[in-house]
Amino acid sequence: MLSVFSSPTRYTQGRDATRSLGAEMATLGLQGPVLLIAGRSARRLLEKTWRESLGDSGFEHSIFDFGGECTHAEIERAKVVAQDARVQAIVGAGGGKLLDTARAVAADLKLPVVNCPTVASSDAPCSALSVIYTEEGVVDEYRIYARNPDLVLVDTSVVAQAPARFLVAGMGDALATLLEARTCFDGRVKNMRGGGSTHSALALAQLCYRTLIADGAEAKRAVEAHAVTPAMERIVEANTLLSGLGFESSGLAAAHSIHNGLTAMAETHSFLHGEKVAFGALTQLVLEGKPQAEIEELLTFSCEVGLPVTLAEVGLEDCSTEAVETIARRTIEPGETIHNEPFEVTVPMVADAIRSADRTGRAWLKG
Ligand SMILES: [Zn+2]
Repeated sequence: MLSVFSSPTRYTQGRDATRSLGAEMATLGLQGPVLLIAGRSARRLLEKTWRESLGDSGFEHSIFDFGGECTHAEIERAKVVAQDARVQAIVGAGGGKLLDTARAVAADLKLPVVNCPTVASSDAPCSALSVIYTEEGVVDEYRIYARNPDLVLVDTSVVAQAPARFLVAGMGDALATLLEARTCFDGRVKNMRGGGSTHSALALAQLCYRTLIADGAEAKRAVEAHAVTPAMERIVEANTLLSGLGFESSGLAAAHSIHNGLTAMAETHSFLHGEKVAFGALTQLVLEGKPQAEIEELLTFSCEVGLPVTLAEVGLEDCSTEAVETIARRTIEPGETIHNEPFEVTVPMVADAIRSADRTGRAWLKG
């Protein structure tokens, strides 16, 4: 099997980065007119800056207000607007589901795409895939594209304005990256790009994990004060770039499948992707039978920054045996990345790992 490493063409991050959006796009030779798929708070914060930055670089643009979910219907709605305006590029500015939608629209129309995450809540912005949800909010499918985004531009002054919960959720998503990457690397399974992992991708996943442990708590405090600091910049980079490259070019395993399993329960829908992935990461360590010291490091970190370590913390108080089995069944559906684990997974095995992780988390919280 050939090894494959895949990444965005350009990654730009920093304070007031939005002011450079037009110039960054021009550097890459992108052309207008542009359709800007925008979230509500992104539009409120950035509409004036977009007008100036895109205008100064000669990009005409129109704005499409995002409906809130990345569904097939929402993607079609945006495509119609993009085609009517004959746009030459798609820019997404908002949260993870919005960026998933922007990538899907661009891929279908064979247009370049620029992702401007306004929160650092997941590792999706750099990737060449979208997670499509049903109208009911359940994970429907992963769509994988030929190309990563042309440009990912992260304005850390915008990220600092969002509630700290989003940055913390991004750390939950990033926390799983190394655990899943090394399982895929060791098992020599195919990564998300259809090739084997590289040492580079694994090294990025390791740096991602080390950065979380070193800077996570301080970065959370910075964002609580709506401040941009070096630690906060490093965590934004870990959540967005390191985690994105690490998961895509090494691969996913149990943690993300357990996330998908959790979405089978409506009670978990108000929790963020990374919050559910954090519980999935803990469950993966239990499932893989990793040493206690590793589990304790994860528990210490999760509790320090406020990531879930129990089912109750993802909305599932008093979770029945049947409910855990429902989650486990969804977790091991065909095509799920849990099948990258180096052993055959079964419903009882996953259900036991979930129950045991929950018990471990509850005992840890009690101290
Ligand atoms: Zn994720």
